Order: sequence, then C-alpha cells, then structure tokens
Amino acid sequence: MGRVFVVEREGRSYRCKYCNTQLALFDDLASRAFHCRRGKAYLFNNAINISFGALEERMMLSGLHTVADIFCCTCGQIVGWKYEAAHEKSQKYKEGKYVLERGRIVDDIEFSTGFFIDSRSSVSDSEEN
Ligand SMILES: [Zn+2]
Repeated sequence: MGRVFVVEREGRSYRCKYCNTQLALFDDLASRAFHCRRGKAYLFNNAINISFGALEERMMLSGLHTVADIFCCTCGQIVGWKYEAAHEKSQKYKEGKYVLERGRIVDDIEFSTGFFIDSRSSVSDSEEN
C-alpha cells in the first residue's frame, strides 16, 4: 500500500458516506439517471480520491462494458465503477466516466442540512448482495 494523498476541491461535492472523503464535484455530475444492482447511481465526468480494481468485462443492462470497480482511497469501501470502454456505439459517451452509487455517497448539501449529522453513525442500511 502506498501513501494516500487526499485532495480537497472547492465547491459543492459528493463524499464517501463512510469516511466523508470528497469523491466527486457537483460540477462533474453528468447524469443522475443511472441504476446499479443496489439502486440509484450517478454518472460523473471525473472523480477524485479513489483507487481502482482490476479491469473486467461486465454485462450491463445497456450492453457489454469494460469496467473497473472504484474504491474510496481513504476507507477502501467500494463506491462504484469506472467505464473504461463500451462495446455498443450508443454507449461510447460513458467511456472514461465514473459511476458512484447513490447509497454510498452523501451530498454536501444534505450534509449541511442535517440529514447526515454524523456520516459514521448513519452506516446502518441493510444491504443484500
Ligand atoms: Zn471512504
């Protein structure tokens, strides 16, 4: 394991639900209309403070994609995946983009309005895998 350097950007952002590390900026949000096996997910043009899993071919609702799971670099929780390549022409726009699972991130705005007063104590959702 190398040293972890956490960067912090200005502006509204989405953070790791488990450790509050900044993962993506609101300005980089490309789409909210994504879904994953565990529910809603957001598509981002860029993400920060993440590490990558191994590339794999994954069959999704929209076709075959080459993806890599992405993990919070601070706590190691899986937070989503990155599209390295799309095999369907209509899905090419996703290449190089990041998907963060909605259930694994918190919005700064929610955070400041008190929905998540302490992100650590809110890790109580049951999850079926
Ligand atoms: Zn984290």
